[in-house]
Parts: sequence; C-alpha cells; structure tokens
Amino acid sequence: MARELLQRHFGYDNFRSHQAEVITTLLNGEDALVLMPTGGGKSLCYQLPSLLRDGVGVVISPLIALMQDQVDALRQNGIAAAYLNSTLNSREVYEIEQALQQGALDLLYIAPERLAHPAMLNLLKRIKLALFAIDEAHCVSQWGHDFRPEYLQLSLLHQQFPEVPRVALTATADTPTRREIINKLALNDAKQFISSFDRPNIRYRIMESQGDSKEQLLYFILHEHRHNAGIVYCLSRKRVEEVAAWLSQKGLTALPYHAALPAAERLRNQQRFLREEGIIIVATIAFGMGIDKPDVRFVAHLNLPKSVESYYQETGRAGRDGAPSDAWMSYGLRDVITLRQMQSQSTANEQHKRVEQHKLDAMLGLCEAIQCRRQILLRYFDDPLPEPCGNCDNCLEPPQSWDATVAARKALSCVYRSGQRYGVHHLIDILLGSSNAHILRKNHQQLSTYGIGKELGQNEWRNLFRQLIAHGLLVVDIEGHGGLCLTEASRPLLRGETTLTLRQLTAQRRGATPSAKQNRRSQSLTALQRPLWEALRELRKSLAERQGIPAFTIFHDATLMEMVQRHPTTLQQLSTISGIGETKLNRYGGLFLELLTSHAESIRGLPAHLSDPNSRPEAGSDTAEVSIRMFQDGNPVANIARQRQMKDATIYSHLCRGISEGILEVQAVTGLSDAELNKIHQTMELYDGEKRLKPIFEALEERYSYELLRCVAAAREPYHD
Ligand code: ADP
Ligand code: ZN
Repeated sequence: MARELLQRHFGYDNFRSHQAEVITTLLNGEDALVLMPTGGGKSLCYQLPSLLRDGVGVVISPLIALMQDQVDALRQNGIAAAYLNSTLNSREVYEIEQALQQGALDLLYIAPERLAHPAMLNLLKRIKLALFAIDEAHCVSQWGHDFRPEYLQLSLLHQQFPEVPRVALTATADTPTRREIINKLALNDAKQFISSFDRPNIRYRIMESQGDSKEQLLYFILHEHRHNAGIVYCLSRKRVEEVAAWLSQKGLTALPYHAALPAAERLRNQQRFLREEGIIIVATIAFGMGIDKPDVRFVAHLNLPKSVESYYQETGRAGRDGAPSDAWMSYGLRDVITLRQMQSQSTANEQHKRVEQHKLDAMLGLCEAIQCRRQILLRYFDDPLPEPCGNCDNCLEPPQSWDATVAARKALSCVYRSGQRYGVHHLIDILLGSSNAHILRKNHQQLSTYGIGKELGQNEWRNLFRQLIAHGLLVVDIEGHGGLCLTEASRPLLRGETTLTLRQLTAQRRGATPSAKQNRRSQSLTALQRPLWEALRELRKSLAERQGIPAFTIFHDATLMEMVQRHPTTLQQLSTISGIGETKLNRYGGLFLELLTSHAESIRGLPAHLSDPNSRPEAGSDTAEVSIRMFQDGNPVANIARQRQMKDATIYSHLCRGISEGILEVQAVTGLSDAELNKIHQTMELYDGEKRLKPIFEALEERYSYELLRCVAAAREPYHD
C-alpha cells in the first residue's frame, strides 16, 4: 500500500533506509524519532503516512521561506498541501482554514509560533489529524546554534493531542542533542531510527592553497561544474563581495550573501539561487540553514571551518538528490594562524576554550590527514566506516608522506634561537639565509640557524610551518602579531627523541584532479548526450518559469539524466524512470517524450555507433581514446605519434578532446606555466566570440603553436562535435 503510493505520487520504486519502518510506526499510531543525514529522505517519512492515515498531517517547520517550495513540490506530485504563515493575507488564511475544516488537505505546513495560538489549537481540535511532524527537531536544543524558543512550546502537542502520533526529525547527530529532543518533546516512548550519516555521493577534497585560492576555485568550477549550482563559503563579508565579483567577472553567475546585505537583496539572491539554474552563491555561514535545494552540485570552502561539525553541516548541503557532488576546500597557513589566534583571544571560560581547541584540532587533523577523509569524518561522528571510501581525494590519489624530522627540527630550532617571537615570514627568511634589511637590523645572520634550510623552497617551508601549527608543535602568540612559540609537544622532536611524518605538499594539483576515471561528469555525459541534456534542462526551465516555481520541483537532475541514458520512447517507458509519478507523467510526459523523439531523429544519420548509445564501440577502439590513454600512461606526444604513425598535430587533436571532456589537464598536455596560460586566456577573452585562432596566434606574437592554442581553447569550451 505504502509502496504503491510511493510509486504513484513520487515515482520511486523502493524505500530508503528506515523510511518503511518509520512509516509503519506512524501508521500504527506510535511516535518516532528520526535521525537521518541531510538528503536522506526525511520528508517521505511523514508525507506518506499523512496520505495513508485519515485526516491532515501537520508539519511544524521553522523555515517560513521554504514552506512555499515544499508545498509547490508536493502539489506537483498531485498531493493536496498548503501552508499557514505570516506571508499570507487574511483571505488566504481563511481559505486554508476552510479547506482544513472540509478535510480537503493531506498536509499542512505551519510555523511553531502559529501552531501554539489558542485559535489554531481550537481549530486543530475540531478536525481529524493524521500526525504531527516536527521538522528540524534539534531547534529545541538550547545548546545548538539553531535554537528556537518557540520549539519549547511543542511539548503541548503531547498534552493536548495524546492520541495523534508524532514524529520528530533532524539531521543533527550527536547524543546530547538527541537526549534533549526526547526530553523537551516528551518522546520517551518514541521508537528511534538512526541512519548512517555517511553521504556516499559527496566527494571530499581538501587541499593547501597555493598563492591565491580564488584561482584554484575558478579552475575547479570551470572544469567540473561549469553550469552547476554551488555554494562558496568565505569567512568575511569583504571576501564574499570580492569573490562574488571576481567570479562574475570571469563569466559565471555568482551572487553574494551575508548578514550585512539589505534584506531585500539577500532574499532576491536566495530566490534566484533556488529558482534559476547554475547560480553560485558566495556566502558567509549566514547562508544555509534550510536550503532545501536538492541539486547543489558543489560546496566550496575558501576558508577553514571552525569545527568538523560545521564542515559536515555545510558540505552536507551538496547533493541532497543523491547525485555525485563535491565538497571542495582550499586552506592555507593564514587560515590556521587566524583561527588559532581567534581561539587564544577568545574570552570564553577555560572549559569552553578547551572544547573549542579540541574541535579546531580535529578539523586540522582532518585537513592534514593521509587516510580516507570519510573514515575520519564518520569516526568523529561515532559512525565508523570499516573500509576506505574510494570517493575522497586521499583514496583516489593517495598523498605522499615524507619524513619531516630533520626539516621540522630546523624550523623549531630557528623559532627557539630567534627568541620565539617572530612570524613565519621572517623565520623562513632566516632559514633561507636571506639578507634583507630586517634580518640585518636584528643581526639574525649571526644565528646558528641562518641559511640552514636552503634545501626547501619558500612554499615548502610555509607548508611545513602550517603543519607544525596544525599538529600543535608550534603555537601562535596571544598578542596577535603572528609570532610563533614552541609547545611542550615540540620538545621531544627538538631533542631528537621522536620523528615526524607529514603529508607532502600536493604539488601543482591546482585544486582539481580530474583524471580519466575520476571525472564523473564527463563519464556520465558523452559529447553526444550533452545537447539532449541541455535541451531537457531548457524545457524544464521554461515549464518552471511559467509556473513561478523552482525547476527541481518539476524533475530532478537525476531524473533528466536517466532520460538521457535510457532514451524512453513511450509514456510507459517514461513512467518507469525514477522521480516520475502519475501526476507528473500526465502533466509533462507528453512534452518530454516529444523532445526525446525529435532529438533521436535529429541524430539519426550519424554513424550507427555514435547515434545509438547502446552500441558504442569498445572503449579503446576510438582512436582519440587510444592517444589519451597512451598519454595518461606517461608517453609524450612525439612518442605517441611515432608509435601510431600519425602526425603530432593529430595526436594533439586527440588530446584536445581529452581536455575538453575534462579527462586531461591542459597544463599536462601543453607544459605551459600558470603565467603563460593566464596570458593566453586573457588574450582569448579579448577575442571572445572569435572562432578562428589566427588573430589570437598573432596577438600572442606567434609564440605559441596552433596546437597549443587549440588545447587551451579546448579547456575553455566543453567538447562539441
Ligand atoms: P531530507 O529532508 O532528509 O534532507 P528529503 O526528504 O528532502 O531529505 O529527500 C532528499 C531527496 O531524496 C529528495 O529529492 C527526495 O525526493 C529523494 N528521495 C527520498 N526518498 C526517496 C526514495 N525512497 N527513493 C528515491 N528518492 C528519494
Ligand atoms: Zn576515502
């Protein structure tokens, strides 16, 4: 019965973890407490029983701004839903109250303060109630950061409606919060359903910033998420403005969001993010709670979050729809120093400070780790993962570690000899034996550590100092000048009693590591599928715009992706695609089918192996693929050309395709430096829209061959044939 409704209304075949059990519990009239990660599928746990039980399901939610989207999405699935909140006028409120009394609604969303009004309670007592769902139940917790005093009143539900089953839901995992929810909401007898907090579709990546992390970010977005929605978190408002402006200047649609923006602008930006496609929000942490957008494809951090909890919560906003998504972070020495300083200057009491310190240590531990990131994260949340995940940077590209004992000892002793009061910059000058004015004024060329560190470069020393601070072997001074001092923990190392192994600097990774098997986007969409994909998105967008609702309430990305891959040709086939229930099939099936059919016709006439996705040639028989594979195996272009008896230019054209599909890195193929690459990009920007390469070739004074230019151009444009 429940499963039939799941298929009919939501178009899904199976329940996810615990959903079926929660539903059964509520159908039996019992209470439930549901802990599931973001995107786990909490809503279905109360939506389905509301349909199956007599009466209306009342959903209490603190997020007024999102009620409308939720109700829109339900109506798209043919479910009678409404919301009551302060954005409605009295006429609209009256109509909904009428509908309630007539028993015409399946679901009602309502804010907690409104629910507690005597008039509202009276109304609810007169009608039949299927259940109460208390969403974001951790809002009752006084210690959490989302505390809502109105939530405390919700204990009245139990007193005044003892016979109506209640379900409390949250994505906040820790035991103290859970205990508080049970106490405050009188849920002692509730059955508990605790799902794993793993988010397998999110790929975690953390890297050191090398120079400007903005550049790394841009590279990552252009290569992996060019047309996708994402959130970029920065620490300060100023940085938010700067990054948003910079990304916009690079041709992306990036909107700022922080507490100091006028409310109207904030709301407008949030609405655009929800309703339009491919918008990037650059935000301080003020943005996030209740961002229910399912198709956020990446969350990027340009700063270090203060704790693993914040990191997990913020990255958790990616990929609620279960499709592959990225959690990407770049952090550096500056971050570590700033956070350590903020902490030592904190005016909190000692106990609180110790907790904060512990949290930051855990966060830094995650960043500097060599093992699987997901295992570390889940262990932190007491939900251990037995095997490495295979979907984080450390699993995909195991970092090298190196014996840093000698270098670390040099650094520590340099700190000690110079009096434990200088910052990293000056310390590195001493180690490298620089003879600038500051060194000479302090007479530091006399120190025994002067010039003993020439085997490492500036960047490597910065990296090492960052790690020493992260590992607690050095502390930042309390006065806030950035001076470094030794800690107790550093003594044994300095005395030669212990050794130190560290993560090696991920050299020149530039933020993204899209090697062949790892780039899921290009893997899932071939060049031939891309036009269809774009067309489907376009259709979805126009349908959404006409109704003034977010595109994802029509179909999720995953649903469109399945259309691209399975190419349904009848309504019956279309109905078997996940996410297409009866109502949506009736409403939109015809239109989408028409598009799919006309697209199939337009590619007929192409060679059979190209037009029919099921008869693609074996990987490897495609000549470009062979060159790409040989290149990946480490063969230079000239070798490949010789072995395959082809011209260099031909091989380059193969590799170009690899670049535009995101399989190869343009720098690996061309050997160009960052500066050269930037220069070429700038020139291409000047000639934006120019199809021929000649003007660009000439503008660059014929310094770069056409082959190289073609490769760079390929990195800018996704592959089209
Ligand atoms: P949460 O509230 O736990 O963050 P949602 O209830 O918004 O998560 O669900 C996340 C996404 O997963 C939604 O897009 C929803 O449609 C989808 N979903 C939920 N249950 C299922 C299921 N059984 N099969 C497929 N998709 C599901
Ligand atoms: Zn892993």
